[in-house]
Amino acid sequence: MPDDALRAAESGAAYTAFDRDHPPSADLVSDCVHCGFCLTTCPTYVLWGEEMDSPRGRIHLIGQGLAGEPLSDSMVEHFDRCLGCMACVTACPSGVRYDRLIEDTRAQVERRHVRGVRERALRAAIFALFPYPRRLRLLRGPLLAYRRSGLQKLVGRTDLLRRLAPTIATLESLAPRVRGVPRPSARVRARGERRAVVGMLTGCVQSAFFPDVNSATVRVLAAEGCEVLIPPAQGCCGALSVHNGRRAEAQRFARRLIDVFEQTGMDYFVVNAAGCGSSLKEYDELLADDPRYAERAVAFTAKVRDLAELLVELGPVAERHPLPMTVAYHDACHLGHAQGIREQPRALLRGIPELEVRRIAEAEICCGSAGVWNVLNPGPAADLGDRKAKAVLATGAELLVTANPGCLMQVAAAVRRQGGAIALAHTAHVLDASIRNLDPSTLLSP
Ligand code: SF4
Ligand code: SF4
Repeated sequence: MPDDALRAAESGAAYTAFDRDHPPSADLVSDCVHCGFCLTTCPTYVLWGEEMDSPRGRIHLIGQGLAGEPLSDSMVEHFDRCLGCMACVTACPSGVRYDRLIEDTRAQVERRHVRGVRERALRAAIFALFPYPRRLRLLRGPLLAYRRSGLQKLVGRTDLLRRLAPTIATLESLAPRVRGVPRPSARVRARGERRAVVGMLTGCVQSAFFPDVNSATVRVLAAEGCEVLIPPAQGCCGALSVHNGRRAEAQRFARRLIDVFEQTGMDYFVVNAAGCGSSLKEYDELLADDPRYAERAVAFTAKVRDLAELLVELGPVAERHPLPMTVAYHDACHLGHAQGIREQPRALLRGIPELEVRRIAEAEICCGSAGVWNVLNPGPAADLGDRKAKAVLATGAELLVTANPGCLMQVAAAVRRQGGAIALAHTAHVLDASIRNLDPSTLLSP
């Protein structure tokens, strides 16, 4: 679409597809020169080969919306199918800000598009559950009983659950084994000389299903000279909400997190979940129009660090003990593509004596987790998960390491489906085991 037409549309009286509350930017749309370099890294284009399920196609649809086309069901379907993995942002030589375009578009879709009853109910259930760690923790008991009762095996054999309720089946298949780990204290002292005071996000899925990742993170930070502050009232960071167009909800979560942490005197705010980190680094944009929070959000955003990013920035002081094993490192999209953090986790792993890091083929393609995308799109998510599991298993590594709870669950489920076996760990687990001189078998046991 010609630039003039886009700008004319943007300055016109009203859009059909979009309203005037942060519509996607026509300038950003016109940055796309249609070269197609992004296509082969886009998981939905890889799956279906459809132009409108590619980044270039979606940008074209956004342009059509700005030029006056209505927000049709088909347009929404193509936007909904986007995983938000941001592989296209990495691949684009013209620097197109697809991340901004899709986020603004999704907020418009959530406000202006009426979804079917089943879809509305599913989304309402997801957003009444996932951003609330206490509610997620309540699920652990029933899931454990379900596993122990043997019903899980029966359902797996008959595929009954999958046919009756694909979404519940997906959730069930992704849920990791529940581990009883005590919650970390609100303040943990640095070991040795204190080098930094660090606020820490415990997360929703992370704290409910992977509390051992948080415990390992705290131990690693303390061993590296950080005093760690973990206020129990912190709540959700709003990542799932903002990535799904629920901007007002995300803003509420963001304000609360800033309220809880800004008085703590922290030097850094550390995050061990990639999806959360990428949205925390955009609080300044999320709250830019809020007169009470805009400046505070800028100050808060400047302190946000991914765990690996912070550890490399501080430099190691704790001794690393050998871990003779092979690991495959998986780049979570919201760490690699959205935050550009690829080297730091690998540098940390390479800093462990006798540990070999292996490369996963097609590293840029999403595993299909993508927040709650795998719950909303179980079929294609399983296809992407299987593709990733094959690439992971082909490395022959003993351990898969990544930095996002969604990826851990998604790849674990896909590896099981493939009949393969590989142990899984967060980067924090591996560093913790090396610093504490644990036996490698502690990481390799299922
Ligand atoms: S964010 Fe991912 S799924 Fe969406 S258009 Fe870009 S590459 Fe494709
Ligand atoms: S690589 Fe960038 S400029 Fe090229 S088609 Fe994709 S988004 Fe457009």
